Amino acid sequence: MDFSTVELSAEDEAFRTEVREFLASVVTADVIRRDRETGDNFDEGVHLALGAAGYLEKEWKTEADGGFSRVRRRIWELEKRRAEVPWVTWGTTAMVARSVAKFASPEIRDDVLRGVFDGTVRLCLGYTEPEGGSDVATCKTRAVRDGDQWIINGSKMFTTGAHNCQYVFLITNTDPDAPKHKSLTMFLVPLDSDGIEIQGIRTVDGDRTNIVYYSDVRVDDKYRLGDVNGGWTVVREPLDAEHGAVAAADDGLADVAIMMHQAGFMAEAADNVAALVGRSGAVDDGSVAYRLGRSVARLEASLSAPSIFGRVALAQTMRDIAPDLMDIAGSVAALPIGADGGADDRSEYVYRFAPLVGIYGGTLEVFRNMIAQHVLGLGKPNYSAPKAKAS
Ligand SMILES: Cc1cc2nc3c(=O)[nH]c(=O)nc-3n(C[C@H](O)[C@H](O)[C@H](O)COP(=O)(O)OP(=O)(O)OC[C@H]3O[C@@H](n4cnc5c(N)ncnc54)[C@H](O)[C@@H]3O)c2cc1C
Repeated sequence: MDFSTVELSAEDEAFRTEVREFLASVVTADVIRRDRETGDNFDEGVHLALGAAGYLEKEWKTEADGGFSRVRRRIWELEKRRAEVPWVTWGTTAMVARSVAKFASPEIRDDVLRGVFDGTVRLCLGYTEPEGGSDVATCKTRAVRDGDQWIINGSKMFTTGAHNCQYVFLITNTDPDAPKHKSLTMFLVPLDSDGIEIQGIRTVDGDRTNIVYYSDVRVDDKYRLGDVNGGWTVVREPLDAEHGAVAAADDGLADVAIMMHQAGFMAEAADNVAALVGRSGAVDDGSVAYRLGRSVARLEASLSAPSIFGRVALAQTMRDIAPDLMDIAGSVAALPIGADGGADDRSEYVYRFAPLVGIYGGTLEVFRNMIAQHVLGLGKPNYSAPKAKAS
C-alpha cells in the first residue's frame, strides 16, 4: 500500500476545479432535498447531465480504452462523494454493463452501452427473491422457452432502482431438475414489457427499493446473456464485485474496500458530532471525550481495513458507533436532517442506515462465514443437528 501524498499536475488541478464546478452546478440543494424525499438515490436530470458531459463513459472505461487516468478517476470519485451525487442506480448500471459488454449479442451490447454512456439507459439487479436472497442460486423465478422467446414467471424482492431503470439483470431458473448452479439463465429484461409490475418499498433509512412481479413476461432470446443454464458464469463476476472480493489497487488511488461511500456518512457524522460537542463544551466531560475518541478510533480502523475485511468492518462499525454518536450529540440528534432546530449532524441517519449496509450485497453473517472458510481455512460451517450420543 502506498500512503505517500499524490502531487497533482497543473492539468489535474484544473480537472478537479472543472468537475467540482460542474457537479456543484448540477447537484443543487433541490436535487438533494428531492432525493431525500423520494429515497431514490437517483436523479434523472443529474444522470443525463453526467452522461451528456461524457463523464459516465470516462468513468466506466479503462484509461487504455479512453477512460479517466488513475489520478483523474480518483479525483472524480472523491468529488462525486463530496457533492453527494445520488449514486445507487449508476452503481448497479455500471456493474451490469460489464456483463452486457462480455455476454450480450453485438446488437444488444452496442445499443445498451450507448444508452448507458449517455445516461438514457439504466440497469438494476434482479437477484433476490421473497423466499431468500443470500443464496442467489436457489432461484425460483422460471423462464420457459417458447420458440424465439422466453416466458418468465416469478417475483423478485429488493430490485433497487427498477422504477428508474430500463432493464433488469434477471436471474431465472431454466431447469428446476438440474443442480442449482447449472439451472440458471441470465436475461436483460426490458422493464416496459407487458406483465411486469413494480411496487415500491421504503426501508427504515428512508431509501426506496422495489418488489417486482413477473407474470407471463415474454422476452426475446436476443436478451439472453450467456448460455442457457450457464447463468452462474455470467453472474459470478458482478457478484464478486458487489461482495468486494476483487483485489484493491495498491497505488493508493482507489478505495481499499467497497462501501466507502456509505462509510463517508459515518465519517461525516463523527466530524459533525465532534464539532457539536466542541462548540457546546460537552467535550470537556471525560466520558464524552472517551466515547467520541473510541468512536473515531473504530471509524479510522474500519476505513483502513482492506477488501472483504473492510466490507465487514465498515458496516459493523456503523452499527456500533451510530448509537454512541447520537447519545453524545444529545436529544437534538433525534431530529432528522433538515428539521427545524436540528443540528444536521447525521448521526440519526447513520443509525437507521447502518443495519441495511450490513444486509445488501450480502449480509455480515454470510461474509463472516466466507472469511472463516476461504481466508482462514476453517472449513464449511456445519449447521446439522448434533448426533445423538449412544446411551
Ligand atoms: C436496501 C436494500 C437494497 C437491496 N437491493 C437489492 C437489489 O438491488 N437487487 C437484489 O437482487 N437484491 C437487493 N437486496 C437484497 C439483499 O442482497 C438481500 O437482502 C441479502 O442478500 C440477504 O438476503 P435476504 O434478505 O433474502 O435474507 P436471507 O438470505 O433470507 O437471510 C436471513 C438471515 O439468515 C442469515 N443467513 C442466510 N444464509 C446464511 C449463511 N449461509 N450463513 C450464515 N447466515 C446466513 C442472514 O445473515 C440473515 O440474517 C437489497 C436489500 C436491501 C436491504
